[in-house]
Amino acid sequence: IWRNCLQRLQSELSVTEFNTWIKPLQVRETDNEMALFAPNPFFVDWIRQQYLDRITEVVNSKPDNTQLHISLHVGHAQSDTPEKSSANPVSAASSELINGNHQSLRTPSANNNSSYSGNPSSNFPQNNLNDKFTFNSFVEGKSNQLARAAAEQVAENPGISYNPLLIYGGVGLGKTHLMHSVGNLILKDKPDSKIVYLHSERFMANMVKALQSNSMDAFKNYYRSVDALLIDDIQFFANKGRTQEEFFHTFNNLIEKNKQVIITCDRYPKEIEGLEERLKSRFGWGLTVAIEPPDLETRVAILMSKAHQAKTELPHEVAFFIAKRIRSNVRELEGALKRVLANAQFTGRAITLDFVKDALKDLIAAQDKLISIDNIQKTVASYYKIKVSDLLSKRRSRSITRPRQMAMTLAKKLTNHSLPEIGDAFGGRDHTTVLHACRKIDELKSESVDIEEDYSNLLRTLST
Ligand code: ADP
Ligand code: MG
Repeated sequence: IWRNCLQRLQSELSVTEFNTWIKPLQVRETDNEMALFAPNPFFVDWIRQQYLDRITEVVNSKPDNTQLHISLHVGHAQSDTPEKSSANPVSAASSELINGNHQSLRTPSANNNSSYSGNPSSNFPQNNLNDKFTFNSFVEGKSNQLARAAAEQVAENPGISYNPLLIYGGVGLGKTHLMHSVGNLILKDKPDSKIVYLHSERFMANMVKALQSNSMDAFKNYYRSVDALLIDDIQFFANKGRTQEEFFHTFNNLIEKNKQVIITCDRYPKEIEGLEERLKSRFGWGLTVAIEPPDLETRVAILMSKAHQAKTELPHEVAFFIAKRIRSNVRELEGALKRVLANAQFTGRAITLDFVKDALKDLIAAQDKLISIDNIQKTVASYYKIKVSDLLSKRRSRSITRPRQMAMTLAKKLTNHSLPEIGDAFGGRDHTTVLHACRKIDELKSESVDIEEDYSNLLRTLST
């Protein structure tokens, strides 16, 4: 039962929310009771306020109509007796009295996904663009400048500037947002254009349905009749031969007619194993642009802009603090901000630096753990196919020095550790060695495409 519930919630909530709040829950199910275990009292409170209603609803939406009693505890499901917590178990009935506002926490994209679970036999959706994802609400920075410019070009001249446009980059960096922006702008100019956005998994599912119901012609006609086809997260096509085949033909058909195709992917498409060569080579016909993780300045700008949209004044030092701590991607950044805003709202406290430090305590701890020097060393070592112990050793051959310098540079960029601390973590080296490494990599990056590429690949791997 819990597994089903998880699936439902995953499709409804943003990744951050789901991973932060729902995934850590442990469960013990008995015949008429489901006990949920959370790591601390704050967590329990938050679950009760934000998610319990929905969990109760989902859990009890079983066909047999039996009602499970849901209780919340601090502790672990494995331990024989649940630790008695300050939080009293909450029954399904009483939880209805608590006025949670999980609705406001849902991201627009999550809402947008709801059309995925629509009636399977209904017609294909007309357009499912999220009107919140526009160029106006997309904050520009060095990391996304190129992708944004290309997207604007395409929106202004659909079908003739770059076709296909392929945007790739790590999760939560704004690919879907940009893609919708193009669709929305095209629609603004030509309101009766037929723009279809869909996730690749949805394309696949629709195809399977069409196959089962013998309606492949309708399927083909539908996707070949659009003015623009926006296909998100193409990496899901990997190893799905039939889907790729179908997509290949649709793609060719559209390109031939100068209909715009936009594709996103979580990595450089040539790197996807299990994707047919002919598709990869077709993608190369248009323009392929990367979105990188945003730099500090851009992260601050994004936070200010999102706060502004939520009609909240965010003190600059607070935006700076959050942006400095949450480095991985924009989705996480947004998640952190939402959490701050929600906390401020229900505690009635002002958004000061201290308040934010407290509100984001566990999130920050989790982030710091995620990008530790240790983790960077492992990632870099495996990227260059050497051993972590080589990185820490005294060996000075080029094949070891370069990765070592790379790892140090990434450690400086991605963690809050000081130069001496980083030196220490690399086999007790001096802080000047670390400084030298950072300068060296910086210099090499501008001279050598290979180093530049290694750097951005590693950055992408580490920060997603
Ligand atoms: P991706 O598709 O790359 O995983 P999304 O497009 O879903 O990422 O972006 C995640 C969230 O971050 C969305 O809510 C989006 O609006 C926001 N976002 C990403 N980049 C920007 C940006 N440059 N400016 C404003 N919001 C952004
Ligand atoms: Mg996306």
